[in-house]
Amino acid sequence: MPIQTLESLRMLCLELLGLTLTMAGVVVIATYWYFGSFALPAAQGALGFTLLMLFVSALPLQLYAATRIVALRRRNKQLFHIATRDGLTKVLNRAAFQKSVELRIGPDSRRRAEDDVPHTLLVLDADHFKRINDRLGHGTGDEALSLIAATLRMNVRKDDLVGRLGGEEFAVLLRNAGYEEAMIVAERLRSRINMLEVGPRHQRTRLSVSLGGISFKTKVSFEAAYKIADTNLYKAKTSGRNRVTLSQLGTLRSVDGIRPQIEARAQRRA
Ligand code: GH3
Ligand code: MG
Ligand code: MG
Repeated sequence: MPIQTLESLRMLCLELLGLTLTMAGVVVIATYWYFGSFALPAAQGALGFTLLMLFVSALPLQLYAATRIVALRRRNKQLFHIATRDGLTKVLNRAAFQKSVELRIGPDSRRRAEDDVPHTLLVLDADHFKRINDRLGHGTGDEALSLIAATLRMNVRKDDLVGRLGGEEFAVLLRNAGYEEAMIVAERLRSRINMLEVGPRHQRTRLSVSLGGISFKTKVSFEAAYKIADTNLYKAKTSGRNRVTLSQLGTLRSVDGIRPQIEARAQRRA
């Protein structure tokens, strides 16, 4: 049994024990009130018997309830995991990714001023993916999407977020990564994905993705950040694919309508 489950079970048992002891206290008071004192042998017998029955019946019931509650909590966790993951690639689905991003960087997030570390949102789209499906089949296309997702997961930090926005489009939220660092990470993601190949031996096909991104230091809505990242993705596509276009947002306190985009550069294919 995992340590967390054991800890949870221990806490529940303690809570239920507390409840039983409270009930025992109530029994003592009720017996005293009913018999007027504990001097009578009948009062002592009744108290002893009632307490014995309480503990004997409570223990198995407590154990049963605790085990059931722990199992339900575990199931709840599994269902939450299923509901927030993309079935094919196992990264966050669009809704979960968006919600997680909003919680970290959105205008309503609880980030304090000292937590104003830079973040970067990257949006990636597989290049000429229709061709891969058409030439190699939908199964190979699915395999390519899983490989891309796994490569993203493996090449970012644990507290970065990776999601599938839909179709052959993915997104990554890099925590504590400003423009320069994000450019290095984005370029690394691009080149690692460009090393992947799918398809049978005589039809091996190399994968590539185009990336658009936006670095920012302030609270910004997902929609606003996504809009700029997507525009940059479009630039990366139209300037030849298999490349990164990243911008940096000015120092606004809160950004909903997009204004200063102080820097925009495209990096050519390595
Ligand atoms: P571009 O470089 O401009 O992005 O070209 P593209 O071919 O990648 O873009 P387009 O939008 O024309 O085609 C995307 C393709 O991705 C079409 C669709 O069938 C495929 N696709 C979307 N979701 C999945 C999926 O879950 N599995 C597979 N195998 N293919 C998918
Ligand atoms: Mg595409
Ligand atoms: Mg697309």
